[in-house]
Amino acid sequence: MKVNATRLQQHFEAMSLIGKIGETGTCRPAHTALEKEGFQIAASWMKEAGMTTRIDNFGNLIGRLEGKNPSLPVLMMGSHLDSQPYGGRFDGVAGVLCAIEVVATLSENGIIPERSIEVISFADEEGWRFNKGLFGSRGILGKLEEGELQRADKDGITREQALKDFGCDITKFKESEYKPGSIFCFLELHIEQGPVLDMANKPIGVVSGISGPVWWTVKLKGMAGHSGSVPMPIRKDAMVGAAEIIIALNEIVTQIPGAPTVGTVGTLNVFPASRNIIAEEVSFTVDFRDIDLDRRNRYEKQLRDRIDAITQKHQLTYEISEDTKSDPRYCADWIKEMIHNECKTLELDAPELMSGPFHDALALSYACDYGMIFVRCKDGISHNPLEYSSYEDLTLGANVMVGTVLQILQK
Ligand SMILES: [Zn+2]
Repeated sequence: MKVNATRLQQHFEAMSLIGKIGETGTCRPAHTALEKEGFQIAASWMKEAGMTTRIDNFGNLIGRLEGKNPSLPVLMMGSHLDSQPYGGRFDGVAGVLCAIEVVATLSENGIIPERSIEVISFADEEGWRFNKGLFGSRGILGKLEEGELQRADKDGITREQALKDFGCDITKFKESEYKPGSIFCFLELHIEQGPVLDMANKPIGVVSGISGPVWWTVKLKGMAGHSGSVPMPIRKDAMVGAAEIIIALNEIVTQIPGAPTVGTVGTLNVFPASRNIIAEEVSFTVDFRDIDLDRRNRYEKQLRDRIDAITQKHQLTYEISEDTKSDPRYCADWIKEMIHNECKTLELDAPELMSGPFHDALALSYACDYGMIFVRCKDGISHNPLEYSSYEDLTLGANVMVGTVLQILQK
């Protein structure tokens, strides 16, 4: 059973016109008229595929193919149609459009599954508008946090207002939640957003899990002084301390060649930030991820020890505040096996790889077993209008998904 490659490509092309920026870019922010437009066209394709559609109170678009036994937990697939402000055509879109194509293919082949299938475009996966992502996927699981609706975007519009404007009833969140046990499993196809598949020259990858990030803010405090007069041996230079810690992080995460561990210091704030004052205070963020929790814990300890030693050497004091710490979430072995089986059938040599970025599947992983299929993207570029996956690769991904769904429906 194969998907309709021409139709799939047409859907990508049509979706890319909504919120189009430049030649190949997309800006389709969450809970906006543009996302609504994306939902309307996606809903029309869902209906053609035999699904009923609705938009829930979290702003998720949900298509449902009713099974013979609607009381069985649903097989859920999906991703998101919101994009980064300066994003590409495939991030999130691939997972929604391929899932719709899978259901269309099942319907065209006369398959009415026992359990119902749902395809969801989750609201605000990207998280940049209100500085908090995975909104719709956490919402349906009752996992929103205190005060989330009061977060405002850069124009001062709160999430609450944006949801109301979108047509959602925020007093009825409960009605849009899924009860524990009501989701059988979740399947998400996504572009890799990294270079591993492209470098290995493989179109499709089987995701092993989503790596857990540790996010810290580290603050170093030394002593300001005139850069022309304070002798080097008695300085307490917070900038030098920060520089050594950044190098230390880099050394720690690269000690096993080929391991997927990554560490990044992406911001640096310096006080008082004058060219002729020794930096008194430097704070910076640490983003540190690994799929192997033992190794991540080991490295975290190493980094703490190094920070301790480096700050002592430079007579600095330090503070580490932990902003986020989530555990790696592994894909279900049985779903991975089915994806591998299908890749073998299609004669694809699909490597297994972890996902550094999060996806809606991360939220779903707390509610049910999940699996993910990665599609190669050129040079690993994503969150950028240059993001590119070929329609051939996307079609292969959708075909792997059909085969996987057929196996899941046997279970
Ligand atoms: Zn995405």
